[in-house]
Amino acid sequence: MNGGFKMRILVLVLSIVTVLITSFNIVISLDKVEAQNTNISSSEEVIEKEKNEHEVSEYIEGEAPLYIDGIVVVNKDYGLPRNFKSDLEEEALQAVDDIIAAAKKENIAIKVRSGFRSYDNQVQLFKTYANRDGSSKANTYSAHAGFSEHQTGLAFDFTTGKSNKSIGVWFDDTAQAKWLYENAYKFGFVLRYPEDKDHITGYMHESWHYRYVGKEHSKNFKMNDLTLEEYLGLYDGSSDNNEDDDLDDNLDD
Ligand SMILES: [Zn+2]
Repeated sequence: MNGGFKMRILVLVLSIVTVLITSFNIVISLDKVEAQNTNISSSEEVIEKEKNEHEVSEYIEGEAPLYIDGIVVVNKDYGLPRNFKSDLEEEALQAVDDIIAAAKKENIAIKVRSGFRSYDNQVQLFKTYANRDGSSKANTYSAHAGFSEHQTGLAFDFTTGKSNKSIGVWFDDTAQAKWLYENAYKFGFVLRYPEDKDHITGYMHESWHYRYVGKEHSKNFKMNDLTLEEYLGLYDGSSDNNEDDDLDDNLDD
């Protein structure tokens, strides 16, 4: 064999070795990328899992209220002991003052129609409504004693600055309702009974009833399309009320 041929063989062998090494490296680096991707997706899963996990207290009716993530829950399923007291009450009252002052700056006069209501007041109130409308009708807009969010001291019914009449659907179209709808979350409040969510909250839409939960939570309620039940993982996507609604819709059609 002459020197030129040997040289060509050597070049060929070197080329093959280079190609092999390069592709081996590519395979290794692809493996690394895949390994990194696996790490990313598993850490995302962990974050997702943490989001879905709530800190839930033990609930004993009439004795120990239900707290989820530090938020006291009051609805038709979970009530309060007779002498419940929230340590957020002062903070909530300050937030109400701040709301009224901020609205006033925009020439919107808002006042509180109803705030804290004791257990005994609620006993009387429900009786009055039940006598007037029957207890099943009263049940759609008023709570049994121990099951009113007003007993927390963190729920407020707002009304217009000059109104002395009972709060009701007339409030829906006021500038005050609109202002609260757009701004209350900035002050730590959530619209507690949003429209079309009565199958989740157990209550018809109330444009006047806001619940103080603190800004770190209320910022997630900006769009007023989330209920406290959904936020705290209490709603599993099904309910008897939901079926009733469907039935009603069909009858209407
Ligand atoms: Zn209310």
